[in-house]
Amino acid sequence: MLNAVEGEVESQPMCPSHPAREAVRTCERCGRYVCSWCEREGGQCRECSRQAALAVPDSRVRARRATWALGISAAITALSLPLGLWVVFGPEGGVDLDAMRVLYARLGIVSGVMDIAAQVFFLMWLHRVVRQLKAWGQDIGTSPAWAVAFWFIPFASLVKPYQIVKAIAEQVGGTFLAASLPLSLWWGTNILARLLNRMEQQTFDKAGTIEGAPASAGYAIGLGTTLCSVVTVVCCIQILRVIQEQLDRRRAGMEAPYTPLTEEDAPVAE
Ligand SMILES: [Zn+2]
Ligand SMILES: [Zn+2]
Repeated sequence: MLNAVEGEVESQPMCPSHPAREAVRTCERCGRYVCSWCEREGGQCRECSRQAALAVPDSRVRARRATWALGISAAITALSLPLGLWVVFGPEGGVDLDAMRVLYARLGIVSGVMDIAAQVFFLMWLHRVVRQLKAWGQDIGTSPAWAVAFWFIPFASLVKPYQIVKAIAEQVGGTFLAASLPLSLWWGTNILARLLNRMEQQTFDKAGTIEGAPASAGYAIGLGTTLCSVVTVVCCIQILRVIQEQLDRRRAGMEAPYTPLTEEDAPVAE
């Protein structure tokens, strides 16, 4: 598609960045001539596509907020660890189980609220990350809205969030970086914590009604829940930090001054 201007019919229009190369089109946005090296998605020149990519707000602030919320949430969850240990391994009859239950339940409410806050901040970060990648021409197979929605859809929520975060890690840092992240541990302990939490609730419910059913069993399961939750959050923070670092690096690269491609940088012919 050539937009040869009259008077230039004789000479083939050339790329302004690569005077030796013929233009293949004009940029959809600024109208400059573009050679095949400089052509970007949507028929734009490199500069216009760079500007469009930088126009998407970055996820740095959201990453920081999510990291703090996750850290605080893990710290509060970890507080119930000594309580559980005391009930399960402490001296027989040395614990007032009723008082312990009240304390444990209150701690559970606080950590539950913090957990929800951390989840919200994490999902806000995830949404922004997918939006940025999309603007940068990197497809992870889902839209920002779906990347969040999958967390709430039964059954899909068991696998999709893991697949999406893994796809993001691969897009920003390659398969090697993705493999170095504790993705499986993060997701495995997350699922396990959800399961154990349900079992814990059921055990406590039964402990109140059936004669002889030990409430300490609930605390024992609670120990497992707590451990899994803490591991999940620690892994999550690690994954989030590494992905954000890669995004920051890429954005810094885009903000760097424009340099025309040389022969060596030429894209591999399609
Ligand atoms: Zn342009
Ligand atoms: Zn060019």
